[in-house]
Parts: sequence; C-alpha cells; structure tokens
Amino acid sequence: MSAGLPDLGVLRVGWPGYESPGTTHVVRVAGVQIGGATTTIIAGPCAVETFEQTLAVARAVREAGGDLLRGGAFKPRTNPHSFQGLGREGLRILAEVRRLTGLPVVTEALDPRQVEEVAAHADMIQVGSRSMQNFPLLTEVGHAGKPVLLKRGWASTLEEWLCAAEYVLEAGNRDIVLCERGVRTGCNGGYAASVLDLNVLEAVRAATPLPVLVDPSHAAGHWTRVAPLARAALAAGAHGLLVEVVEEGADRSRLRSDAEQGVPPAVLRGIVRARVHA
Ligand code: PEP
Ligand code: MN
Repeated sequence: MSAGLPDLGVLRVGWPGYESPGTTHVVRVAGVQIGGATTTIIAGPCAVETFEQTLAVARAVREAGGDLLRGGAFKPRTNPHSFQGLGREGLRILAEVRRLTGLPVVTEALDPRQVEEVAAHADMIQVGSRSMQNFPLLTEVGHAGKPVLLKRGWASTLEEWLCAAEYVLEAGNRDIVLCERGVRTGCNGGYAASVLDLNVLEAVRAATPLPVLVDPSHAAGHWTRVAPLARAALAAGAHGLLVEVVEEGADRSRLRSDAEQGVPPAVLRGIVRARVHA
C-alpha cells in the first residue's frame, strides 16, 4: 500500500489481481482512449446554451486537437433561479453537434430518471461533484451501458470517491474515469473557487487502475488561471484534462453558466500542445 492510503478493505475498485499495480484500466469512449499512456483532452462549454454556441465551441475544440466534447444539458445550479440548462433540447443539440464535428459527447446526468435519455444521446455520462454521493444515481449510471466520468465531491475524501466508483462497478460497469476538480478548504479567501488537489493523483494511481483526469476550470474559477493548473495536472500524473471553453470573441456577459472560467480557443490550443511535452 502506498503511503497514507486509506484501507480499501473489500473494495473491488482496487481490483486485486485484475491488473498489476501501476497499470491503468483503459476506458474507450466511442473509440477515444482514456488511460494508459495517452493524455485525453475533454473540452467544451460549461452549459449548452444555444446550438450555434455549442457548434462554434466544438469546432474550436476539434481544431485545437481535443478528443471529446463536454457540455451540460442538465446543470446542477446552487441557486434555483439560475439557468438550469436546456435539458432534453440540450441533449439533442449535443447529438447534432457530434454528427457535424465527429467529436464524441460527455454530458451530465443529475437524476436517475434522466440517465436513460442521457445515455441515448451521449457517449459518456458525467456524474458531477454535487452528485458524487447520490447512490441511486451511481447505480443507475452503472446500468446504463456507457462509460462514466465520476467527478470528486468537493468535500470528499479519496476513500469516499473510490466508494462512489465502487457503486458504479457493483452495478456492472467498470468503465469509470475519475476526475479531480478541486476541493473546498476555506483557506483560499475567495480568490479561487476551490483548491486543486494534485496530491491525490499519485494516491489514486496507487489505489486503483481507473484512469484519473483533472478539471482545472472549476478549481480555477477564472480562465486566466486554467492553463498553469492544466500543465501542473499533467506533470503530476493526470491521464488527461476536462477544460471549459468559450467561443472565439464570446461576450461573457451573455453566458448563463460559469461565464468567467471558459478559456478562449487560443488558450485551449496552448493546453493541448503542452500535453505533448508533459
Ligand atoms: C461541470 O463540469 O460543469 C460541473 C458542474 O462541474 P462540478 O460538478 O465539478 O462542479
Ligand atoms: Mn461549469
């Protein structure tokens, strides 16, 4: 056991004997590999707001060399009066943008009742930070027959995160990709959304063969801080990144979700180039 790791007891996410220590379980999302020696870039808008915006961002992602398109149709919002996402219409937009760009799609399911429909439109189902311990949701996505992107709860320990993965695994789905997105510490005085826990990457890699990505965007909270965190994440052993992107020349005042943190396409291009040198 690596220093400081929790005792995972009977957890199958440790998969004793399944793969040797240090190897990764490779997850394939519509032909795109996550894990192993590759570095995978998932990028796109925070929320699907319009067809035109989603297509413009997706084209920028493809041109930058991104592998998968992300974008929320069902958005978990703190304030019930905030934009909640386009819902089903957002799923239809994502499927159409995939058809036009060829980029496979990752999108979030918030509620077990949405899982079937999300799985019908998306190539990978995201479970968000706020939902990491929604156990019925975890079981439902485990049954959905699509790879799962499991974000870390912003106040969750490594053990709780791996237990959440275990729910998906217990439902019969081992195609799980973990994603660190920052934890709340109360120490950063409000300058950033969260503290990105890069320390956890080595511990995750020692504990489980599941691939682990890093989302620098939700930790940074502002686009100017995203590229340095992305480089640090790859240097610290992430199997890839999840990055929010805005379209070229976007009017941020009109964006309805995470308006300040999406990087412009030129910054995304720099991040993708950096992966080659990581
Ligand atoms: C997101 O990816 O858009 C999101 C809401 O992230 P998190 O669940 O990490 O806050
Ligand atoms: Mn977001």
